[in-house]
Amino acid sequence: MGIPFFARYRMVMLAAAQFLRDEHVTAFPIDAASIIKRNGWGLKPYSEYAKSRHVDVNTVARELPSEDGFTVRKSGKYTIAYNDGVRTRERIRWTLLHEIGHIYLGHFKEFDETLLNRGGLDDRAMRVLENEADVFARNVLAPAPIVRELSRNVNTAYLLRTVFDLSGQATRMRIRYLSADLRFRFESLTQQFDTFINRVLYGKECTVCHYYFATPGAIYCPVCRNTDAISTYKGVTPDMIYDGFELDGNGYPKHECPRCGNEQLSGEHCKVCGVSLTNKCTNFQEDSWGNIEWECGEVADGNARFCTKCGSPTTYFSHKLLLPWDSVKRQPRDRPVSDLFADPFADPFEKVTSAATKEISDQDLPF
Ligand SMILES: [Zn+2]
Ligand SMILES: [Zn+2]
Ligand SMILES: [Zn+2]
Ligand SMILES: [Zn+2]
Repeated sequence: MGIPFFARYRMVMLAAAQFLRDEHVTAFPIDAASIIKRNGWGLKPYSEYAKSRHVDVNTVARELPSEDGFTVRKSGKYTIAYNDGVRTRERIRWTLLHEIGHIYLGHFKEFDETLLNRGGLDDRAMRVLENEADVFARNVLAPAPIVRELSRNVNTAYLLRTVFDLSGQATRMRIRYLSADLRFRFESLTQQFDTFINRVLYGKECTVCHYYFATPGAIYCPVCRNTDAISTYKGVTPDMIYDGFELDGNGYPKHECPRCGNEQLSGEHCKVCGVSLTNKCTNFQEDSWGNIEWECGEVADGNARFCTKCGSPTTYFSHKLLLPWDSVKRQPRDRPVSDLFADPFADPFEKVTSAATKEISDQDLPF
């Protein structure tokens, strides 16, 4: 098949949305290294080429097909090579998603792969494929509908630099093509990113119990009732864990009664033990005849001991279904490998590259 004359904008936008679903991406910045590993693709830093040839990374980068990165397909297996020399983490992530774009968009399968491998395409054809990979990269790293949703409350450039962790150049490109990309809204992507969007817009970390919560309009920490939680976006760093029960969006148990474990639930109270099933605020006022005149009514999370709006105890806490926060405090799990990219201080390839590239021998190299 010949290379198309223009970048296939609509097809690439669809593919980017499909990729986010296929890879179960629910937060940003994207963990490119884990995606590459999971798909069985190889990953090779330029410094490895440099080491085997006894030259520095800059020298080898000038000899390789691209200064930033490229992909080789040998006997059906893809290997992505990237410049780990002077490149920043943001720029490496962009390069990896650009290369993943070439793979995911089928450039190696649909078009003559030897030409792609050796950079033997003419300028026009090269530009078309490069544009497609760039459209893919920016809509996977910072999908237009999500960026728009968040920019209502947060400055767009700041958002792209901090939350999405884009480079300055990628940020400018994202902003320049935002309205153009928004024309292709095939279906709502935002639902998949509900939790992420909430965390960016409303995320707060409590200064006392260090619980992280994202409740619109929260004044009190739901775990310890402190009022000085600090607004912050914590990315995918594991949260401090406080035990609780699994509830649906209405504060109702998903599986069983929180007190007796009865699984046949219906109505406001458990048919077996009589406990009130919904976790909500207990704050109400009675008139002189004992009728409820006013109630806060705020529905709470499954581990909330206090109402985030008025600071009163929740039903679960007042029924002693939840213990005081300082007696159940638990440290978050160890950071999983998949979080490497999200940690600004971690070397993103430290653990991943050696395992992923071990089986690639010198004859797989493009030269
Ligand atoms: Zn490319
Ligand atoms: Zn707290
Ligand atoms: Zn019960
Ligand atoms: Zn309340």
